[in-house]
Amino acid sequence: MSYNPWLVALSLALAALDAYVAFSVVGRIARSRGPAAVLWTAFGALAMGSGVWAMHFIGMLALEVPVTLGYDSRQTALSAVPVVLATGATLWLLGRRGTRASAVMAGCILGLGMAAMHYLGVHALHMRPAVAWSLPWAAASLLLALAGSTAAISLHSIIWRRERRHRWWLRLLAALLLGGTATGVHYLGMVALRFAPDAVSLEAQTGLRGLGLGLAISLVSGLLLLLTLGVSLAHRQLQRHTAAIARELGQARDALSWLAYHDELTALPNRANVLDLLDRLLPLARDERFEVAVMFVDLDGFKSINDTLGHEVGDEFLRSVADALCASVRSRDTVARFGGDEFVVVLERFRSEDNLSAICQKILSLVSRPVTVAGHGVSATPSIGVAMFPRDGEDSASLLRHADLAMYSAKEHGKAGYCFYQPRMREQARDRLLLSAELREALQRDEITVHYQPKVELDGRRVVGLEALARWQHPERGLLLPNSFVPLAEASGLIAQLGQVVLRQVARQLAQWRARGLPLVPVAINVSLQEIQNDQFVAGLVAALREFGLHPNLFELEITESAAMKNAEHTLRQLRQLEVLGFQMAIDDFGTGFSSLSHLRQLPTQTIKIDQSFVQGAGRNPADRDITEAIIALAHKLRLTTVAEGIETEAQAAWLLEAGCGIGQGFLFVPPLPAEQVPALLLAERTPLANAL
Ligand code: C2E
Ligand code: CA
Ligand code: CA
Repeated sequence: MSYNPWLVALSLALAALDAYVAFSVVGRIARSRGPAAVLWTAFGALAMGSGVWAMHFIGMLALEVPVTLGYDSRQTALSAVPVVLATGATLWLLGRRGTRASAVMAGCILGLGMAAMHYLGVHALHMRPAVAWSLPWAAASLLLALAGSTAAISLHSIIWRRERRHRWWLRLLAALLLGGTATGVHYLGMVALRFAPDAVSLEAQTGLRGLGLGLAISLVSGLLLLLTLGVSLAHRQLQRHTAAIARELGQARDALSWLAYHDELTALPNRANVLDLLDRLLPLARDERFEVAVMFVDLDGFKSINDTLGHEVGDEFLRSVADALCASVRSRDTVARFGGDEFVVVLERFRSEDNLSAICQKILSLVSRPVTVAGHGVSATPSIGVAMFPRDGEDSASLLRHADLAMYSAKEHGKAGYCFYQPRMREQARDRLLLSAELREALQRDEITVHYQPKVELDGRRVVGLEALARWQHPERGLLLPNSFVPLAEASGLIAQLGQVVLRQVARQLAQWRARGLPLVPVAINVSLQEIQNDQFVAGLVAALREFGLHPNLFELEITESAAMKNAEHTLRQLRQLEVLGFQMAIDDFGTGFSSLSHLRQLPTQTIKIDQSFVQGAGRNPADRDITEAIIALAHKLRLTTVAEGIETEAQAAWLLEAGCGIGQGFLFVPPLPAEQVPALLLAERTPLANAL
């Protein structure tokens, strides 16, 4: 017995291609569901089974024996059935399960299928006398079928589970192993055949035979396999594409739902998130009787950081505030951003109100710390309002509203502090709203007037200047002091208008006094931070002066220390411009801000006004006295004039004079007076004050 080597090679190639395609189809079955998986199994079984069968048929044709061989066409076709079924079962097992046990089972089924096909195929020769079998060789061929298939399939299963990188050539290796097995089984099976010397094939004349037929079968089978492979690859591409789209859609959906519940800038929970949280938490707190507190945190003067240093610096600063807030509370508490410079903290199961106060203190100290953003030293203090469940509100909306009101109250009490909600705040809020609306009209209706408080030399008690203090002659409420309407004006954007009204009244007054020939002294005007930051401010000043023909040195502008320190660079630029125009400048409420000495030196001011809290505290608190003396000494070094505010007793006046403070202001000398009463003081300018009154 000998073999045509070309046909042997062809059968081997066909078997290897067959196996490669089989493995590719396994992947399709694994990634398909329902009918698609069944279809792939059926399609694969047909293509692969017929491939193995074609390989076997070519293998038979490769056999070169002296007798003419032919095959019973029905039986030959039938011999494909076991291998098609076995291939189907194998594909299904591998595609659906892919476990090690199923790989062994699939290997055995496929091996048996191959063996069955081989022996059925040989039977289709219808040899006379019948072929005999060499049992050891037949057993070897069966063994090879089982072992080879199992090994190749197991190898494939291992590759399947591994990472992608080496898959391609490892799969080729498994395919060669399986193809080799299939061919090996066939040729070993052929070795096991024993033809009698005078044997003839009954099908030699009528059955299937000839090289052309064999080649045609292999061509068709090869094409079928290539087609399967092509469809399989295309399908894989399609599935990957669909999976990628599904993944992207999933990510987009996740991102959207994240955005709906978070603040993009700080990645903190947002308002919707906090409302949800409270709606879940409050019923639980009611049942289990634990407390919940809501804190409203708002930054003082954040807007000016944004306006003067730009939004990027503002954003970065907000992120650092978010970090500071998170660092101030326990990890189970919730820190959220409601937008702008508004943050909300939700705390549960705190021990006591004292505990909440301690947390507020911590927030105050951590958030107030200056940070460096893009080379700028930036800081803002927080104002905090606290509302507690169930005492201050039964639901999320009223808790948040009341915490907000308490925060407003903290702002009113000088900012940089915290307040607990109290029911009267609701009335106050209503009142504020009303007053704010009335203020708008008051500005039009000349209800705003100016009172003047003199600054006197502590030594000789001579009047050296006046301070203009706004008053509101309210039709129903009487004379209102600035504390009740200046913050309102600042909050509602009316402050620039208020400033203009005061400025023009002062200018008109000065022009009048001058016309009456009174000796004039400089008049100080209080300027809010918002006004300095307004680009129209300088132009408005200059216009008023021009209208009344006044020289800028008759005016002094008082800017609070905290305002002068905020957004130092921009403020400094504005102040320098005013200095160039010839205005005097003073730092008001000195000692309450946190100025750095180096910054203080840069400010174009001639005067600092020591805050009245130091003057009044000095009697009781030695530290206040030390600070005041230190401020005076410092001012001397910097060649600045000091003015002490709020002097109410002779004792205060005496120690201030002794400490080196030259000028004072306070009820001890003269309270703020309406304009009509000022001329008498001015006329006494060259004489001690006591004689004038
Ligand atoms: P300020 O600039 O610190 O003004 C001094 C305040 O101390 C005045 O209060 C004055 O009446 C009060 N005062 C004077 N002497 C004494 C004293 O011996 N003892 C005590 N306890 N207080 C004394 P006023 O008039 O109520 O003004 C309050 C604040 O309102 C001012 O504080 C100033 O910051 C602001 N303000 C007043 N007028 C204007 C204005 O036209 N524009 C702006 N932006 N702010 C203004
Ligand atoms: Ca002042
Ligand atoms: Ca002051």
